Amino acid sequence: MVCVTEQTRVSDESIDIHCVGFPDHPEDLNLQLIIKSGWLDKTPPNGGRQFQRRWVQLDWEYLRYFQNNKEVYSKRMVALACVSEVVRVGEKRFEIITQGRTFLFRAPNSKQRDDWLSCLWKVLDSRQEKKCGNGFFKTAVVSTEGYLEMTSPRNKLYTVVNNHKVYLFRNREEYLQGIGITDIDMSRASVKQTSKFVKITTSYRTFSFMVDSQVEWQHWYACLMACVSQSSSDSVCERVWSLETNRACADCGAVMPEWASVNLCVLLCEQCAGVHQSLGQSVSKVYNLKSDECVWTDDLIKVFLLIGNSKANQFWAVDVPACERLSQNASSSERVKHITAKYQDAMYCKRHTLYGQQKELNNALCTTVQTDNLVETLSLLFSGAEIRCYTGIPEFPSPLALAKHTGQPAQVELLRHHLTTVPSPKEAQGQQRSPLAIMVDSGLVQALSLGMQQGRPCGWGTVGHTSVLCHNGYLFKVASSARPITDYKPQADFSQRWCCLGNGLFSYYKTEQSTNRCGCIKMSDIICLSFNSPGIHGYEHTFELYTDSGRVYLFGADDIVTIKEWIRAFAIALLPAVLSDVCGLCDRLGRLRCAEGSSGIGWFCLSGSRLQVLLHDSVQNVDLRKLLTLTLSDSVGDMVFSWRGGSLHVIAENKPHFPGWVRSIGLCGGAGDQPLSLQQLTESGIPIAVDRCLDHITRHGLMSTGIYRKCGVHSHVSALLEEFLRDARSVCVPEDIAVDNVTNTLKRFLREVREGLFNGQQNSQNWLCTAELTDNCNKTSRYQTLLSSLPEVNRETFKALFNHLYCVQNFSNINHMTTRNLGLVFGPTLFQTDKADPRTFKVVEDLIGSYCAIFNISDAELQKQMDMTLLILNKLKDQASLTPVPSHTVCAIYLEKREEDAELLVQVGMSTTVEELVLEVLEMCGIQPADGEFWRCYETKEEIERELHYKEAVLPVCYSLSPQSHLLVKRSHYTSDINMYLSGKEEVCKLGALRMSEVKGGKCKSFSNRHCELSGSTFRLYKELQGSQCEKEWPVQEIKVYQGYMSKLQPPTPWGLTVFHDQQQWYFCCDSEDEFIEWIATIMSLQHGGDLG
Ligand SMILES: [Zn+2]
Repeated sequence: MVCVTEQTRVSDESIDIHCVGFPDHPEDLNLQLIIKSGWLDKTPPNGGRQFQRRWVQLDWEYLRYFQNNKEVYSKRMVALACVSEVVRVGEKRFEIITQGRTFLFRAPNSKQRDDWLSCLWKVLDSRQEKKCGNGFFKTAVVSTEGYLEMTSPRNKLYTVVNNHKVYLFRNREEYLQGIGITDIDMSRASVKQTSKFVKITTSYRTFSFMVDSQVEWQHWYACLMACVSQSSSDSVCERVWSLETNRACADCGAVMPEWASVNLCVLLCEQCAGVHQSLGQSVSKVYNLKSDECVWTDDLIKVFLLIGNSKANQFWAVDVPACERLSQNASSSERVKHITAKYQDAMYCKRHTLYGQQKELNNALCTTVQTDNLVETLSLLFSGAEIRCYTGIPEFPSPLALAKHTGQPAQVELLRHHLTTVPSPKEAQGQQRSPLAIMVDSGLVQALSLGMQQGRPCGWGTVGHTSVLCHNGYLFKVASSARPITDYKPQADFSQRWCCLGNGLFSYYKTEQSTNRCGCIKMSDIICLSFNSPGIHGYEHTFELYTDSGRVYLFGADDIVTIKEWIRAFAIALLPAVLSDVCGLCDRLGRLRCAEGSSGIGWFCLSGSRLQVLLHDSVQNVDLRKLLTLTLSDSVGDMVFSWRGGSLHVIAENKPHFPGWVRSIGLCGGAGDQPLSLQQLTESGIPIAVDRCLDHITRHGLMSTGIYRKCGVHSHVSALLEEFLRDARSVCVPEDIAVDNVTNTLKRFLREVREGLFNGQQNSQNWLCTAELTDNCNKTSRYQTLLSSLPEVNRETFKALFNHLYCVQNFSNINHMTTRNLGLVFGPTLFQTDKADPRTFKVVEDLIGSYCAIFNISDAELQKQMDMTLLILNKLKDQASLTPVPSHTVCAIYLEKREEDAELLVQVGMSTTVEELVLEVLEMCGIQPADGEFWRCYETKEEIERELHYKEAVLPVCYSLSPQSHLLVKRSHYTSDINMYLSGKEEVCKLGALRMSEVKGGKCKSFSNRHCELSGSTFRLYKELQGSQCEKEWPVQEIKVYQGYMSKLQPPTPWGLTVFHDQQQWYFCCDSEDEFIEWIATIMSLQHGGDLG
């Protein structure tokens, strides 16, 4: 048997990055984009003859191969953009040739080889002619790159952060040649910092990187954090692209289009998207898949999966003359011509067969919206069916209402995006030109070049090919004010204005036709935009603009889509490009003065609890609920807050926008009177109040009889709860508070929190009904469904709470809190009721009883949780035994053997080690150790003794001695034998037979044979030599091993060991003295990492 497997060698070819955990279905990680995968044989790089079996995966960008089909991290990934040729070689083989290397693969048979070849050729053919960057990335947004030292396996790697992934290369040359090792998906990863390391933890393993300088360390850390926060938006792309025809621009065929027109239902490349935007929102409503995340609801994604570019083009582009087709390399003017003809003039489209028959079209629309046939709806709408037509049903008068009623969310989404873009009658006439259009006509070139500079599609900022506008439309406006607008503004206070945003100016007119403007604001003067909560003024939806000169402007409309489009237009126009690209739709945005930052200006976007800050040229993502500190109201009025990884000091300004920021940040920072998901949260996303209580109770209450049943002191409970509700972040639960006060604080919190853990009365009914089910299997899966439908914070809180309650009942022999008892306490608490409804008890009992199944906890994870709890408890015990110890004391030590009145009194300090003690005793007694003579200190317990490690501190041992125990300094018989046995051993481990006797209920059993194994960090017992079933195992660090045993046992040989673990003891008997020495040596060596002095 091998004790410790030899670390797999780092081959010259690549680096093995093995996972410690594996996904259930590794192919799912990347499934949507994988074209082909399978086993292939591969030759090693230096032309060796032996083939290695590898799991190979091909997607649209890379060919990867893996050690096996379970590993998540590849051994190699080859960028297909850098492949110059793929050729057939001999019977079953093929070569992939790149500039730097040729990869030779062998398939199991010719047929499979040919399959691989045709797939590879297909991908290579689809490549764009034009390569950007070095070719490794299709879209290069490399945010940082450089060498980093990975600690395990130890290797200096060239590391590149691009989009939401981190890519590893053997060196920079290989990066340039397009050959990587693997990539780490950061979307489910977390990044941690320690003094010298940056660690990326995924579900499958942890990558640790060493960084030399502090500056570099900061830089990498910030960059990786940004990567994690950005990655969530990439999933829209992956989902939309999962339909193959969505992977090419609907107009020109460029690959991986990242833009979409949500009313025309086509996916577009950046250049075509620019032209679409120039046609205006009334023709094409263009959004980005990555940055406009608010738009991308599940339903909208579904629309694009159900229709997709291919079906959309079967409507839009059924009849395109060959000479008018658009290629990826088309010029701007060709694009404008083609796209205008295709959509605005509908020249190539296949009209619906009912075209021209208005009534029939409308009827068909009303029928179709009740089905899932979105393509038909699209065709009808663009063939003239009226989106606002009357359905003939008074309850559901419009197609939209009908679609809603019949449960067709994708239809609803399609209609919704359509509603705001149907051409108005005036547009149909198409002749009127708006004042601003005339005004800025001459600015065409500037606007275009501005768009280019800011990295937007080149047409952004232009509307229509006859005019140049960024955004325009009707809004309702009240007179501006010099103070924050706090009072209700009825509709009568608003007047309709035609508003235009463009060329650095926001202007408004009485009507679209007016030529005299009523007013305008310079965009550079706008320092803040705030989107109000609905219903606070006469118009349902309103937003405010704040200027640097201290004015406040209020605009409104009843239609949310209109308002959101304006907010988006302002965001793009006001914010620096990098921030407007990531912020999406937000509730509040603008600039504030900061103590940090080179310019003293920070740009901010607040959406929900997420605050994005642009400072020092990098965007920080802050979840305000998870702030570590938040100070809003010091005397100066500044805002100071910190989070994991950063802090910020915003300087107070005496302008109307500032109080709004303070209020918003305060509110979004979480509050005690809010539902769970709006509370102040911990890093792991559960309310701080719950976390701090659970922590305290775990440390002080698990062993307390009747925990959770006893009531605390009412006034103390109320005071603590009050503190939590006011500002949980600042609460530190005092260590000496009675644990019952904390349990009751937790119970009160759960009982009183808004909406409760079940997120509302309505939901909690579903849980109660589930408790009545009798089929356990069905019941568990029902609970899982209910759990998964809860907001994330509720779910995580449930998990933390029930993990805790599971631990509590685990110690029910001590604390008497069985599952049943916990059900009685927590049922009414969680359901926030005073009624003794037995179903509430049952839900809690079920969740504890089936904790692992319902919360998907694996055995290993459960074990880890229980170990953690034990660790906390043990640590506490140790601390408790240590606390009363003064800094030094006098110990009684015996020399050679214990005799009445023969003790030596030695002064022992906090830091005195065993080695120092032995030297002192020898000196006191005038003993000069002879050569080869070893003096050691032992803890003796009647007939058994344990050699203390030379580095061990004496004081704790002294204090832990029982009345029967003593410290003894004497010559060791075995030290030289032990040293000899251990010398020259590379791996310390020991296997063999021992006879064992266990003490149970104060009595000990007779000795019986066991096969024992001592290696690594564990001591294991097996009943049989061949048996794979381990009977018992102890962590070596946790056992105390004494030499000898009680003579009353009548042991078969004199060479015995007594093992103590957790108040229990076992006796082991060795067959010979040599065996005995070897076991002792192995244990001591393993316990002290080989350092025996
Ligand atoms: Zn295109």
